[in-house]
Amino acid sequence: MTARIIDGAACAARLRETIAAEIEALPASARRPGLAVVLMGENPASQVYVRNKGVATRKAGMVSTEHRLAADASEAELLALVASLNADPGVDGVLVQLPLPGHIQVARVLAAIDPDKDVDGFHALNVGRLWGGEVGLIPCTPRGCMKLIAEVAPRLAGMTAVVLGRSGIVGKPMTQLLLAADCTVTIAHSRTRDLPGVCRQADILVSAVGVPGLVKADFIKPGAIVIDVGINRLDGEDGKTRLVGDVDFAEAVEVAGAITPVPGGVGPMTIACLLENTLIAYKRREGLGG
Ligand code: NAD
Repeated sequence: MTARIIDGAACAARLRETIAAEIEALPASARRPGLAVVLMGENPASQVYVRNKGVATRKAGMVSTEHRLAADASEAELLALVASLNADPGVDGVLVQLPLPGHIQVARVLAAIDPDKDVDGFHALNVGRLWGGEVGLIPCTPRGCMKLIAEVAPRLAGMTAVVLGRSGIVGKPMTQLLLAADCTVTIAHSRTRDLPGVCRQADILVSAVGVPGLVKADFIKPGAIVIDVGINRLDGEDGKTRLVGDVDFAEAVEVAGAITPVPGGVGPMTIACLLENTLIAYKRREGLGG
């Protein structure tokens, strides 16, 4: 059996088009949604992410602003910038690009973002809302994973799901979304015994670990849906960097029922869901529902 490939790039393009159409349809006099991204330091991967977010935001018809701070700027400077963006009526989404330099307390910065502008969904209030089943802003990557799963399985009730990885930005919120969709959910991680056996129970396996090729054929139940969140950079023999996921794609594609590729799977969905969150935040702030 060869798995169906879930095309994240196409799914993300459709979502971006829907968002752009909604913004296009706003009255000419209406304010456009605004996303402010804060980048501290020179992390090369972060610079690429921030650039891509800016391009996608503008393409969707939103207002994108980028705020850069030097790597040695103080936490007080960063917090003052976040406070000014919280207070800016033209800004609906505030995103502080992670990771932050070592002298900055990430939790303090995330706590300083207005929860209603917290388009990453990392503020403790939004984390709590997700766990409590209340309306909040949902982290972009798990949100995107749920849309990719919906491409191949519209009804998830009763399915067994295993989430590999327990980070606050992917693994934990992913489990909540699957639980809310009535799956029976297990979180597996670096200390799990018999990882292949646990993962093999899954009708839906989501891997968010960061170890290239960790998930082999014996981790996968025949016919399962496999969502590969991992983004790992490997140096190719030609001197070029190659992106691979956590899943050994060549093996997995022969066992799974449906699978996301890397690149072109979860990655594009993350940015599209960031735009969706920004639009949701805008609509709530403007009293337009959302
Ligand atoms: P993290 O380092 O915070 O968490 C990794 C998790 O994997 C931990 O909970 C750990 O217990 C578990 N783990 C580590 N080694 C393991 C092993 N050998 N076996 C089983 N579990 C193990 O990582 P994160 O921030 O959640 O990111 C995970 C991966 O997802 C990374 O590759 C990251 O680049 C990628 N990612 C992709 C997107 C996207 O948009 N596609 C977004 C966020 C993260």
